[in-house]
Amino acid sequence: MKVQKILENKEVIKKASIFILLISFIIVYYQNNIAHQTYQLQYELINTKDMAPVEVAEKKETENSNKTNSVFQIYKQMKSGTSVQKESPIPVSLPAKKNTVATLSTPKRVWYLPTEMGTITSYPTASHFALDITSPRGSSEPVYPIANGTISGIYRDSAGANIVTVTHNIDGQVYTSQYVHLSSYAPDLYIGKPVTINDYLGFMGQTGVATGVHLHIAVLDCSIFDVNDTNCSTLSGFFRYGRTRYYQGFMGLQSIINVPTSWTSR
Ligand SMILES: [Zn+2]
Repeated sequence: MKVQKILENKEVIKKASIFILLISFIIVYYQNNIAHQTYQLQYELINTKDMAPVEVAEKKETENSNKTNSVFQIYKQMKSGTSVQKESPIPVSLPAKKNTVATLSTPKRVWYLPTEMGTITSYPTASHFALDITSPRGSSEPVYPIANGTISGIYRDSAGANIVTVTHNIDGQVYTSQYVHLSSYAPDLYIGKPVTINDYLGFMGQTGVATGVHLHIAVLDCSIFDVNDTNCSTLSGFFRYGRTRYYQGFMGLQSIINVPTSWTSR
């Protein structure tokens, strides 16, 4: 009888121990989770507060696109006829194809300015990691890729800015250039399309958060929307990485080529 009672007690103790252990695990898990969520919330608040309007708008767009799951979907929506051309650009004669064949005596030039004519109106800061460029031709100014590459993004932020991103692979280093506020897109743009420095992407504009017609161009050494590139696999990642690189002294296009304050030829 006594032995049986002890055995029963042991069974109870064993069950109680397992129960207490389980409860402890649950408490530790939830505490970590709450701490993580609080940290994330604070981080998001700081991020939003520090961001310039375009970036806040684009951050919201990221959140939206996370909801719909991919930029590709936005592109599909765009392709299915929701694309709006806010301004009709005055047709301009596009420049003839340039000879880019390198010879031994002339070093290969890979980077170009994004417009035929331009004036810098704003330089990179921590919260606005980009150059803003205006042109006397306004929304008739075609916007070109700064180097040969592949279209990696065609999308519109929540404020309505038309955006294209081009990813470049230059001597094994990946870069992404982002062209914001376009008044219209060039025809037949699609994600994955190879483009050269002579294939215009669209026309300068003031779609989205912009006080006038200009091009907002950001250049980063990462591969946007690439899940393998944790630096900029998302739009908010792209902005965060831009800030990180800014504090490290990287200035986007200016760090890659010599950008004059204004020009009339690429
Ligand atoms: Zn800008």
